[in-house]
Amino acid sequence: MSIFLELIPVSEAEEILRKIAPSMEEEAVPLQDAYDRVLSRSATAEEDIPGFTRTVVDGYAIRAADTIGAGEAMPAMLTITGRVGMGEGDAGHVAPGECRYVPTGAVIPDGADAAAMIEYAEESGNEVLVYRAVASGENLTLRGDDFQKNDLVFPAGRRLSSRDLGVMGALGITTVPVRRKPVIGIISTGNELISPDKTPGPGEIRDVNTYLCRGYAQTRGLIPRIYGIIPDERDPLEEAIRQAVAECDLVCISGGSSKGERDMCAAILADLGTVHAHGISLAPGKPTIIGTIDDVPVMGLPGHPASAYVVLVALCDVLIAAMTGSEVTRITVPARCASPIPSARGREDYIRVRLEGRDAYPLFGKSGLTNTLIESSGLLRIPDGREGYEKGAEVEVILW
Ligand code: AMP
Ligand code: MG
Repeated sequence: MSIFLELIPVSEAEEILRKIAPSMEEEAVPLQDAYDRVLSRSATAEEDIPGFTRTVVDGYAIRAADTIGAGEAMPAMLTITGRVGMGEGDAGHVAPGECRYVPTGAVIPDGADAAAMIEYAEESGNEVLVYRAVASGENLTLRGDDFQKNDLVFPAGRRLSSRDLGVMGALGITTVPVRRKPVIGIISTGNELISPDKTPGPGEIRDVNTYLCRGYAQTRGLIPRIYGIIPDERDPLEEAIRQAVAECDLVCISGGSSKGERDMCAAILADLGTVHAHGISLAPGKPTIIGTIDDVPVMGLPGHPASAYVVLVALCDVLIAAMTGSEVTRITVPARCASPIPSARGREDYIRVRLEGRDAYPLFGKSGLTNTLIESSGLLRIPDGREGYEKGAEVEVILW
């Protein structure tokens, strides 16, 4: 067996991930629990929203034609025949020369085709003086203005925002069909690792990746399941992997993913299932494994926390999106390279950058350090066909 990884391009890794992604089943959740869930079917409007024509101002429901030529010097004079209350279905009728008082959001009476703002009207006794001409349709929301019956409002695969939930309320969707949340098993491996509540002895370091992966899982709508720190030994690692595969929809193991003598992830994966890729043209993140055991995707992440996190963002995001039938959503901002950023052709680079205004400063920390994880605003992706960016180049930064 070669001691070198056989590198495949990121695009090929993405293809593999989409192929091995198990599809999460549908479940129904009440609207109040649907935040951040992925919609499993599209949702359409079952009726016109709003269901009636309403005023958007406090004022008077009128016939626009009655105000033609009205102005400060010569107001239109209308007879007020009633007042419409909020939530009242029967708003009555407005005949030529008449008006009715309407508060914001009330039903517009039959016969009226506009609302005159209270600010430009004066009520005295049975008369209302309107000091401005009003156009037909002015200050109204028409029935179906927001959504029309049978409009497609939400496509399947949408991750529901708080705004979406509000609109679902308006549409009367109280039970929401969503994809089941994937359960992600998280394993950290390394003889040097200790729990953060312990004091490191010589050669020991505290576990970073369990918490990094757990936090990542939470931001992606996954249910994390922690399997703790497992030593670089065949039996306990194999046992932890077997257990995680039996209990989870995907498993991320960090550490031991390369080809050193203590790196046994790939060998265990090959014995228990299939290794689809070992080594990806990605920096950081080269020693990454993509495997499956009993159709459960198992990712071997590099142990370096920054590398592990880049692999989560660059590759696990693709897997999770495929599992839930959604798109990878990345929030990007346009920026300008504050200094030249070199990159080798044939490799996809993810450079941690700090944004200062529109300027993106690359943070070329030594690999293995974690300070760039908190000092950076996000990642600058350099596609494998490019040899980096010159100073001043216009780029997009993927926010963390
Ligand atoms: P490995 O991928 O196992 O060769 O590990 C690469 C580097 O990452 C080593 O310096 C490890 O000590 C470090 N490392 C591995 N796992 C973790 C972890 N869970 N937390 C912090 N550092 C880790
Ligand atoms: Mg290790």
